[in-house]
Amino acid sequence: MAGKVDARVLLGALDELMEPARFRDYCPNGMQVEGKREIGLLASGVTSSLAFIEAAIGAGADALLVHHGLFWKGDDMRVVGPKRRRLGLLLANNLNLFAYHLPLDTLADMGNNAQLGTRLGLAADAWFGEQQIGSVGSLGAAVTAGEFARRVATALSREPLLIGDPLQPVRRVAWCSGGAQGYFEQAIAAGCDLYLSGEVSEQTTHLAREAGVAYIAAGHHATERYGAEAVGRYAAGRFGIRHVHLDIDNPA
Ligand SMILES: [Zn+2]
Repeated sequence: MAGKVDARVLLGALDELMEPARFRDYCPNGMQVEGKREIGLLASGVTSSLAFIEAAIGAGADALLVHHGLFWKGDDMRVVGPKRRRLGLLLANNLNLFAYHLPLDTLADMGNNAQLGTRLGLAADAWFGEQQIGSVGSLGAAVTAGEFARRVATALSREPLLIGDPLQPVRRVAWCSGGAQGYFEQAIAAGCDLYLSGEVSEQTTHLAREAGVAYIAAGHHATERYGAEAVGRYAAGRFGIRHVHLDIDNPA
């Protein structure tokens, strides 16, 4: 028999787990939209897009847990257009929206980076970048960059972009989920044969070639697909509520 949990109790548990106060972030972490008090079904996903909100409503969710919430520093503050439609649906359906950005990336074991590492056979033993957001770890045995790229494709069900010599040996791997191509130089300084993130920029290619360090862009969405799901499963187990993960396809 599935139970229910008070939204404030769930918020307290999520905050206790992810400690948002420890981070400088460019969005509010925690409860972004307050909804009904009793939560019986929690829906997790990467982004609080309209499609995700609609799917969560269709599933009968009482609360949504995402990595990318509705509000970002520097955004237009007006509630118009797509933001109005997203927010309007949440309010009309009395739904809670919980969003955790950097705290979910870096969370041990369940976070985006930890979950991504596990799927690629990597455990972090060093960290780099602003607020130590990036991870570095070693493969059990060296493989070529091309072999590693195939491993990424299989693990994430998405063809990655590899920049660098496919025959180059790779043992030490740095990784950071999402749009962390800007940390490439810091990843190189931390010591790695290959750096993996979600996105790629024009200058990423030149840096990879000139530094002799391979780069893999594996998809922003694909690399951040697992943290919210893991935390949702954890919360459901802890409070005896139901959980559903809704993966809305995103090629970027
Ligand atoms: Zn992201």
